[in-house]
Amino acid sequence: MSSRLHQTGLLFGFVLLWVSAQFLGAIGGPIAACICGALIGLLGTFAARFFSLLERPAWLLPLLLGGCSLLGIGITSLEHPLSSLSWLAAPLTILASGTIVVLQTLNRRRCGLCTRRLSPGALTFTCPRCALVVCDESCWSFEHRRCQLCVEHRVPLLSAQKQWWDRTLGPEATQGRCQVCMASFEQSDLRHCGRCRRLQCRDCWDNLNGECARCSWTIPDLPDSLQQIASSYNDARPSHQHE
Ligand SMILES: [Zn+2]
Ligand SMILES: [Zn+2]
Ligand SMILES: [Zn+2]
Ligand SMILES: [Zn+2]
Repeated sequence: MSSRLHQTGLLFGFVLLWVSAQFLGAIGGPIAACICGALIGLLGTFAARFFSLLERPAWLLPLLLGGCSLLGIGITSLEHPLSSLSWLAAPLTILASGTIVVLQTLNRRRCGLCTRRLSPGALTFTCPRCALVVCDESCWSFEHRRCQLCVEHRVPLLSAQKQWWDRTLGPEATQGRCQVCMASFEQSDLRHCGRCRRLQCRDCWDNLNGECARCSWTIPDLPDSLQQIASSYNDARPSHQHE
């Protein structure tokens, strides 16, 4: 809340600054007024970006700066007779600011999957399976902890090497069934959970991101990329995704 107050104060200060600058510029004649207007558009936009003011909607900032310029000229015109050219300063402000806003929007990061442009504070995830950086809105599966493309194509996470499995979970089971998909030891490569000793096949271990479906024990030697997701989840996971 206090940061919001801080932002509002800052914005108010900037508005005063830009209005006064345009007021003084307009006294200097039409050319000075126009140069001043363009500068307000440039500096005002960079200053607002730096302090994260008025980020959305994008058109608001150019309009506000244009308004400041217009107000500055208006105040000057009360005292001094102004050439009509001086009034061009306001559209120049909007043009300068609008150009920067458009260029910055074009330079924004895109989602690796749906390619939509991401707002600066957008929540993104780096998929542990394919390393794509994707948006949280439509391309990340919170439940599966991977991008939708990897969900669709069943991209594996864990090693395909038998040695890795032997080292991590011990030797292949010679009896029983996978507790998730019910595959028998003859059909699939089953491995014991490190805690409850129940069996899961390698595909199910992989699909559950190395977690035991029963006791939630996880394989200790998981890829760093997955562990980072797990730690970032605590704050990022929306409650409705639990269902
Ligand atoms: Zn996306
Ligand atoms: Zn992926
Ligand atoms: Zn299974
Ligand atoms: Zn277990």
